[in-house]
Amino acid sequence: CGITGYIGYRDAYPIVIKGLKRLEYRGYDSAGIMMFDGTKIQLSKTKGKVADLEDIINKEQSRKNGNLGIGHTRWATHGVPNNVNSHPHTSQSGNLVIVHNGIIENYDALRKELISRGYVFKSDTDTEVLINLIEDVKKNEACKLGKAVQLALNNVIGAYAIAVFDKAKPDEIVVARLGSPIAIGVGKDNTEFFIASDASPFIEYTKNAIYLEDEELAIIKIGKGIKIHKIKGDAQVHANVQKLKL
Ligand code: GLU
Repeated sequence: CGITGYIGYRDAYPIVIKGLKRLEYRGYDSAGIMMFDGTKIQLSKTKGKVADLEDIINKEQSRKNGNLGIGHTRWATHGVPNNVNSHPHTSQSGNLVIVHNGIIENYDALRKELISRGYVFKSDTDTEVLINLIEDVKKNEACKLGKAVQLALNNVIGAYAIAVFDKAKPDEIVVARLGSPIAIGVGKDNTEFFIASDASPFIEYTKNAIYLEDEELAIIKIGKGIKIHKIKGDAQVHANVQKLKL
């Protein structure tokens, strides 16, 4: 299972899809990507191989449009491997998008609570529970995306590497980890950023990488840079940029 992502000035699709292929060694049963072209969120996802995903996308070139994309290979834990349960998942409003590796252990209690507040679920995954929880927190607290992700994760028991996108904040991606790896590639002058489960998908574009530690959340913003926070408490963490060798 793996995560890839790109936000910047290049076409995101080739970077994200090639990244998914580099992460195939981690094992998976389904694959998917979200592309954002500045206006609309486009999801492409399927049970099967990354090559199957490519076949679907190649039939409709518009699925490749955009300078922002996130990709996922899934190893199902909650919900059988099928197209609907494949990631990315969207929130009820359709404005928030998530990819997730790991398990949300208390998903059932959270799901019931969200259903009682009017949320309807399309998939059987624990991941869709998390993105709706983030949406619910964001609405109730009227806070920014990063804060909403942080507050939601404080109500979660489990393990995760996640990347979250909000259509209302198209220059930003929020990532977080607990128990599953996530690396961020830092482009020149904050003009582009890469996200991946390991550095192999982006090493040809940048040698500057940040490996998130457990219980850290990063807000990645074009033109601004990366802010890393502890998920518990409010402490900000100094970003430790490493030079990749190869
Ligand atoms: N628990 C999530 C699911 O079953 C993510 C699995 C994964 O790590 O790929 O959809």
